[in-house]
Amino acid sequence: MFGDGLKRICGVVTGQTAAELAKFVRLAERETSTLEVRLDWLKDDGERQKFLNWLKGKNRIGRQSSSTTYIATCRRRAGGGEFTGDKDSQLYWLITAQEAGCQWCDLEVETIRELPEQSVRGFAVPGKVLLSMHDFRKTPALPKKISVPVGGGVDAIKVAAMAKSIGDSVRLLRLARGSHRVVPVPIGEIGLPARILALREGSPLAYAPVAASTAPGQVSLRELKYLYRAHELTRKTQVYGVIGNPIGHSLSPLMHNTGYVAAERDAVFVPFLVEKLADFLKVIPEFEVRGFGVTLPHKETVFRKLDACEPLAEKIGAVNTVTVRRDGSLYGCNTDYLGVLHALEKKISLRGKRVLIFGAGGAARAAAFAVASAGSDVFVCARRENAARGLAKVVKGEVVKQLELRKRKFDVIVNATPVGMHPYLGISPLGASELNCSIVFDLIYRPLQTKLLEIADARGLRTISGVEMFLAQGIAQWEWWMKEEAPEKEMRKAVLGALKTKEKSNR
Ligand code: NAP
Repeated sequence: MFGDGLKRICGVVTGQTAAELAKFVRLAERETSTLEVRLDWLKDDGERQKFLNWLKGKNRIGRQSSSTTYIATCRRRAGGGEFTGDKDSQLYWLITAQEAGCQWCDLEVETIRELPEQSVRGFAVPGKVLLSMHDFRKTPALPKKISVPVGGGVDAIKVAAMAKSIGDSVRLLRLARGSHRVVPVPIGEIGLPARILALREGSPLAYAPVAASTAPGQVSLRELKYLYRAHELTRKTQVYGVIGNPIGHSLSPLMHNTGYVAAERDAVFVPFLVEKLADFLKVIPEFEVRGFGVTLPHKETVFRKLDACEPLAEKIGAVNTVTVRRDGSLYGCNTDYLGVLHALEKKISLRGKRVLIFGAGGAARAAAFAVASAGSDVFVCARRENAARGLAKVVKGEVVKQLELRKRKFDVIVNATPVGMHPYLGISPLGASELNCSIVFDLIYRPLQTKLLEIADARGLRTISGVEMFLAQGIAQWEWWMKEEAPEKEMRKAVLGALKTKEKSNR
């Protein structure tokens, strides 16, 4: 249909002016050779004419070497596009696009309905027609299968709809199964995994904007190609992911996918925005998910849905890693505590050490169990004394009031509260006089250097950033699923690189 491999990733190019659109075409052609050119986004007919003249010239010059497939789109407002003209002017621009070298056009169902005999045959638009249907508000009722009518002047069908639930995205994805002529486009962040996995299901195309993604649920062309390798995914590719809400900023896809590439594993890791855990659990077989990481707010609720669990995770009462076994049953474990252990044990032997955990939430629990299991004496300080007492009791530790911290000495202090986390930079949960220890470990990893770590640094104490825990828990998770040693160096480099880049752009 559009070709194999990379040709199935379609870069969507937009621009207000001909020059801008041409610039993005050139950029996109470095990454893929199927492009949708959005003529409707150009600000007026003058720019449309200029752009198509440029494209015509370009195609004439590069006729021998150009292997790009162009899909011309001039979607009218009625079909969800930006074009304000009527159907006749829309057809005029599509015919001009054909003359400029566009082999395909996207024609929305609203226009086809207005054509004589509801067919585009007889119009000199590009020879291949992609019939598109859009619903930006919801996923409508869909038939189980959509067949492209033979001889109807249409070569493929695109169904783009707002996925309000993960179930909606699965209904869309099913349309692609075995068809090779239907392109499902789930819109919105919930639909992201289905968008990434559409090619794996048999969709002839997956769309991605050329510029960096500008809205949740969009995945940029470079991300689709390099991070998710969407064009290389087949039904044999193993699917893993992370569930949470919010999930858009998770670095787990980067960490895991980097590991798969380095270790040459046929696997992909996608972020699932999960509002209701039950909705996600239902679609596990559809996506053929083999394992998933769990982040807020599901770490404790998922625990109740497991069929079996690692004993320590059971004691902690939370899991961050779930394996879907062959029979569909769920097995949970907790690599957060391993994350804490590995990060700390690189700096200190924990046996017999005094470790203060500040906070009494989920991460504090994992940290308290981790250091207790390694033979440390645990102290818990939290703003709610009840919570501190509850945690201290299960790890046979002691409660410490914040007022006493100035007078007490520890080997390690672990911050397990979100105080100081992005965007609340510049605040610290503890003051310099409360840091009577040799190591301060802040579980926060955005930013890498928190205010707390700055204060500790200034006092000459050793510090550990939460990124060490993040990396160690993710590496343990990767190894748990892949059953081999993780390519730690590459995974670390990718995560630190992304965090540093983000910090620079936030400045
Ligand atoms: P959580 O379950 O919500 O627990 C947060 C704890 O912090 C609670 O005890 C809470 O007390 C306390 N807290 C919140 N605001 C506070 C304030 N202003 N002053 C004093 N205490 C406050 O969250 P969590 O999952 O444990 O996460 C805690 C931190 O660890 C987050 O920053 C998270 O990013 C980080 N973390 C890092 C990793 C990693 O891989 N590096 C993994 C997991 C978590 P109340 O109960 O009274 O609200």
